[in-house]
Amino acid sequence: MAILDGKALSEQLIDSVKEKAEKLHPTLAVILVGENPASMAYVRNKKKACERAGIEYREYKFPDNITQESLLQKIKELNEDDSVNGLIVQLPLPEQIYVPEVIRAVAPAKDVDGFHAYNIGKMFLSPEFEDLPPATPLGIVKLLDHYNIPIQGQEVVVVGHSNIVGKPISMMMLNRNATVTTCHIYTKDLSAHTRRADILIVAVGKEKLITADMVKEGAVVVDVGMNRNSEGKLCGDVDFEAVGKKASYITPVPGGVGPMTVAALILNTIRATERQNKV
Ligand code: NAP
Repeated sequence: MAILDGKALSEQLIDSVKEKAEKLHPTLAVILVGENPASMAYVRNKKKACERAGIEYREYKFPDNITQESLLQKIKELNEDDSVNGLIVQLPLPEQIYVPEVIRAVAPAKDVDGFHAYNIGKMFLSPEFEDLPPATPLGIVKLLDHYNIPIQGQEVVVVGHSNIVGKPISMMMLNRNATVTTCHIYTKDLSAHTRRADILIVAVGKEKLITADMVKEGAVVVDVGMNRNSEGKLCGDVDFEAVGKKASYITPVPGGVGPMTVAALILNTIRATERQNKV
């Protein structure tokens, strides 16, 4: 078994954009609502990555009780601000906020999270149109490519069909000519599918959902899940110890997909800035 080292690759990718950042002076604006500890930790990592890459980072903090109207107003302002190249609204948002409307409000050209329907829709065409794909799926593709893991013709099984991970990674795998199966809560016999996977991508949010008997010998296993176990330690959706013995490659949690998501956000910010500057 070999580790897919997302942490090391993430640092390499972030360092690789420094020269471009120096020329382009990109700026990323991050809207953070409330004080959710996980969101605050994610935002800190994004800030650190921007500093490392040479991207200007601006944070806009709002209290939990912000209204939909005020939030949309801030987004509009940042959309119209020419000094801002990338704009993200950290999720989750408090109950009174209707998330689809927030996602729709971000200008597609600045949508470096890749959540807007325009950017998602373009992904359906071909890899050439994946201009601003969602950050986590982009990070996964970069990780597989770096380790020269073939995708074309492979059986790829994705577990989870969320709009930000499961569905877009399924599409990106299909764009690269894999045979893709997407599983979810209504899938009748999950292990019948996972056992066929050459590449198994799991994005559910359930500790040890994937056990060794559910994985084919030699499979590549990508664990997107981020959970806290009973001891409060960060863990994924895959039983790492047992599955690691069967897999050819596996991502650790932490140190796998998480840092790659941050690197992908940086790549998207550079890409958005280049497109705005017609580079
Ligand atoms: P989500 O929106 O909650 O989606 C979870 C998906 O899993 C849903 O499609 C759900 O199906 C499906 N599911 C639930 N139980 C299942 C089961 N027993 N068998 C098969 N499928 C099942 O979550 P998400 O945003 O995609 O995130 C998934 C996990 O990845 C979370 O732990 C999250 O923290 C983590 N995550 C990590 C990163 C990173 O950078 N590492 C980024 C994003 C997310 P239904 O919709 O039908 O219920």
